[in-house]
Amino acid sequence: MDRMTIIVPCYNEQETLEDYYQAISRVREQLLDMDCRLEILLVDDGSSDETLARMKELSRNNGWIRYLSFTRNFGKEAAIYAGLTHARGEYVSLMDVDLQDPPALIPQMLDILRNSDCDCVATRRVDRKGEPVIRSFFARAFYRLMRHISDVEIVDGARDFRLMTRRYVDSLLELKEYNRFSKGLFGWVGYKTRWLEYENIERTKGETKWSFFKLLMYSIDGIVAFSTMPVRIAAWIGLLFCSLAFIFILVIVARTLMFGDPVAGWPSTLCVILLLSGIQLFCLGLLGEYLSKTYLEVKKRPIYLCRETNLEEEDGTPTE
Ligand code: UDP
Ligand code: MG
Repeated sequence: MDRMTIIVPCYNEQETLEDYYQAISRVREQLLDMDCRLEILLVDDGSSDETLARMKELSRNNGWIRYLSFTRNFGKEAAIYAGLTHARGEYVSLMDVDLQDPPALIPQMLDILRNSDCDCVATRRVDRKGEPVIRSFFARAFYRLMRHISDVEIVDGARDFRLMTRRYVDSLLELKEYNRFSKGLFGWVGYKTRWLEYENIERTKGETKWSFFKLLMYSIDGIVAFSTMPVRIAAWIGLLFCSLAFIFILVIVARTLMFGDPVAGWPSTLCVILLLSGIQLFCLGLLGEYLSKTYLEVKKRPIYLCRETNLEEEDGTPTE
């Protein structure tokens, strides 16, 4: 019998855990009929509400539910990494706890992996219904930009919800970088991926953990992690301005020789100085972005720290 592990990152999800448990229990029955044992790995990303207590209760009552709890909020990427590290199944899935990823798709995904040469079945939303317009606009712009400046394919609307084979997961785990941008890593490892599409489902309970600002920062992480184009563009802009300056100098020298030197034009000089120093600062900031990421990378700090788990115990009793 095969085994499937579903990794579920949770951050302050006390309202949604119970509904998720109900939904996934039904899927578990279906999977058993398909000769596949299901195991759930709940990752508590440093929640400050009752999430961990609910997790413990669920895993106490169900041997097939295990949990792992971080010492603080390390972010969803860290939770995904922790889950991938501890997943034992031949098939590994990743899904949100808020039921925005329909659990009913899982049997179908398993069927595809078993009967094709794909190593990953991923999902994408075909629309962004229910999402703020500005957020959708910037999300689209981000994916368009990424298509142009990165070699790795990052699919618009791709969710983290996916089912992967063991070898795909092992390849993901070989990427040990600290600044993790999973949407890029999934594409980077290669293999064949089949895409399933579905319409956006709104969160049933609780609230999204991603503010606009957090998403903006995340997109900058993505760009820095998967493209060096911005610093290259900065260099090109520098070259362009040098050429322009050279031409200006020639023009001014010629003009002075021909028509004398009327003192005028200080406002335009000021504008040029302001513009150029702005561009310089911006490019310095860009460099700083790459440098700071490199700085964090060379420190080799752990991606997450675990405070409490019942992973070691087969029968589900917690170890502290
Ligand atoms: N999440 C997490 N750590 C965080 C933020 C979110 O583990 O710092 C989890 C969250 O509990 C949920 C999933 O990541 O299971 C997706 O979060 P959310 O639904 O808030 O994002 P959205 O669906 O709005 O993109
Ligand atoms: Mg959600």
